[in-house]
Amino acid sequence: MRIIDPHCHMYSRTVDDYEMMSLCGIEAIVEPSFWLGNDRTYAGTFYDYFNHISEWEPKNRAAKRGIKHFCTIAMNPKEAENITLAREVVKGMLPFLDRETSVGIGEIGLNNITKNEEAILAEQFVIARDRDVPVIVHTPHNNKLEGTLRILAIAKECKVNPLRVNIDHNTEETLRHTLDAGFWAGITMYPRTKCTPQRARDMVERFGSERILLNSACDWETSDPLSVPKAARLMLRTGFTRAQTMGVVWENPYKFLAASPKFAKAMEPIYNADAQEIPAT
Ligand SMILES: [Zn+2]
Repeated sequence: MRIIDPHCHMYSRTVDDYEMMSLCGIEAIVEPSFWLGNDRTYAGTFYDYFNHISEWEPKNRAAKRGIKHFCTIAMNPKEAENITLAREVVKGMLPFLDRETSVGIGEIGLNNITKNEEAILAEQFVIARDRDVPVIVHTPHNNKLEGTLRILAIAKECKVNPLRVNIDHNTEETLRHTLDAGFWAGITMYPRTKCTPQRARDMVERFGSERILLNSACDWETSDPLSVPKAARLMLRTGFTRAQTMGVVWENPYKFLAASPKFAKAMEPIYNADAQEIPAT
């Protein structure tokens, strides 16, 4: 099974994880910028982190384990409440969007659904719209439905192309809203606070596989970098065909991310290498 995990925080994982991910068929990943577990106090700290995930991580860790590592750059919602710092970071992050491995903007989104968070979200949606690049959007853990609906409304106001946007961390409660609004819908399999491979599999059965993206969002908390391969194995064992399964874990993320010319250029030779073996969906 060939797999792309479009949401991993490898900054906080070990090289053993890369090794296992590669063994389980993960060929490419995207690392969105996020909160590191403690609020940062300087814009420069963000820039060093953007530098790390756009250069050091792909070259010195992922490539050596046979995984193509891409990133998305953003001011994350958890730290956007400090609006002065957030605006400085958004201004200074622009050169990092031009890095070779940088394929879009993310994670932007909402955490506590405040006015400041909404302002920083909208400002970054506009940058993404003007650059026409993929966007990864974090939906809140609390008040999930309210936060998701607010994000969908802000995205519409900002006139961002829904096909460039992955509204992530959906649940059974939000998935239909995200899909009906025309966006890509991410399902994160994250122990405790998000969902399991079983629930993800059931959502694909219930809502269909079109515009669905499965991801692990593995980070420094209890999380599982192998959750996408585990969901794929479960799908194969419980009624989905190989073509349907690969449609969700390989073709869908490829289609979403290939809107970035940098992603398409790096992945096209790999994607097409054995195209004849990929069953039609
Ligand atoms: Zn994340």
